[in-house]
Amino acid sequence: MKTIVANWKMNVGVRESVALARGTLLTLRGRRISPEVVICPPFIALSEVHKVVARSAVFLGAQNLFWEDHGAYTGEISGRMLTELGVSHVIVGHSERREYLGETDEMVRNKVAHALANQMNVILCVGETVSERKAGVQRERVRTQLVRVLAGVRLKSHDRLMIAYEPVWAIGTGEIPEVAEILAMNVYIRSILSEVLPEMNANKIRVLYGGSVEGNNTYPFLREQTIDGLLVGGASVKLNQLKEIIDAASEVLDAQIA
Ligand code: PEP
Repeated sequence: MKTIVANWKMNVGVRESVALARGTLLTLRGRRISPEVVICPPFIALSEVHKVVARSAVFLGAQNLFWEDHGAYTGEISGRMLTELGVSHVIVGHSERREYLGETDEMVRNKVAHALANQMNVILCVGETVSERKAGVQRERVRTQLVRVLAGVRLKSHDRLMIAYEPVWAIGTGEIPEVAEILAMNVYIRSILSEVLPEMNANKIRVLYGGSVEGNNTYPFLREQTIDGLLVGGASVKLNQLKEIIDAASEVLDAQIA
């Protein structure tokens, strides 16, 4: 299976989100085989988008959540509230939140634990900054993030967790790593996962790639068996781009069953 996660960020309002959701459903119609698609609109659009995707194969994701069920946490939204809106997935630890909102690994850990406790599927983002890459410490960075966030976390099924390897320098920049680098990082990520989640089969935990994915550069990632899917930001709010990405994923899946 391949998973495409569309992170619409703060780029679309309610009307555009609904239109994109409808377009996504149309894009998926009539295919022999499709990737799993998770769309993550801004919070304000979740309720309306849920009406569009309810009873479809498209999953609804949130871009963030808070780690308490309820209480005096002005402006925050809990996993329990999100599930009430039909949200099944949540992106946690995105580098933009780490950078602009000061999210620490400890906060990310609390969010992951809370999401899992609320039976949500977690898309956990990890990745190194440009200076960490230049210093050659990308593995150490990713390792630290995974260990701090996941060690001791109780995961009941490998389906509940996806890791999105997103080098921060590749997000929204048009720069992408060599596929070989991503493959090597995925192997490394799986080795850390088997260390921190010893009860899980790390090969079954999906590891996605994210960073400047567009329709025309998608196929080389998706044809790799160990890249389980993509987390797409900017391109995912352009329906033609999203369609190209879904087309590429369907083509790979088609070839696998042919
Ligand atoms: C992201 O924000 O997770 C992302 C991958 O963005 P973009 O596709 O725009 O690089």
